[in-house]
Amino acid sequence: MSRELEILDSEIRTCTKCELHKNRKNAVPGEGPADAKIMFVGEGPGQNEDEQGRPFVGAAGKLLTELLELIGLKRSDVFITNIVKCRPPNNRAPRKPEIQACNPYLKEQIRLIKPKIVCALGTPAIGTLLGEDHSATKVHGKPASKGSVTILPMYHPAAALYDASLREVLRSDFGILKKLLDNTTSHETSTKKSEAGVSRETLEKWV
Ligand code: SF4
Repeated sequence: MSRELEILDSEIRTCTKCELHKNRKNAVPGEGPADAKIMFVGEGPGQNEDEQGRPFVGAAGKLLTELLELIGLKRSDVFITNIVKCRPPNNRAPRKPEIQACNPYLKEQIRLIKPKIVCALGTPAIGTLLGEDHSATKVHGKPASKGSVTILPMYHPAAALYDASLREVLRSDFGILKKLLDNTTSHETSTKKSEAGVSRETLEKWV
């Protein structure tokens, strides 16, 4: 982890900016390489994540790992985080003021890591990254360009634990992720990699 990400990680772990800090055992900043090309953004930590201080460690995390392996990636290749870093009580959906209070951390993670592709998992994450009128049902699998970042909306893996038909949808959307990644990689080898990455100004427009 880079020094800047480490500092951000510490800030998140001691944050009291919204009500969610009151019931947490651990804040869950996220984990993965500081230069990950792919970032996954979920809704918020659940019970297992709250206990361990790590993202996606329960059944949904296992499914995410399996989906990554399907396209030849390891969990350790990608950065995984959430729109809120502390567990909402009883796993309720995060509320708007909580998402807004936590959003600067997500913005800063994207600015520091400079991912090429950000996968928004589930409607709350999709709404945060693309606007409230976007839902997983309507836009899953449809990439959207935002500056130098591609946002790929997907269903949350937890949804596929309850509705088995969504597993096939997720597999198909991971196929799209693989194609996007391949395109990014071939583009990088044929052109000089931009040093600038994602500017703060660009992010302000869409996160
Ligand atoms: S959810 Fe985010 S803003 Fe709220 S206390 Fe946790 S880290 Fe801070």
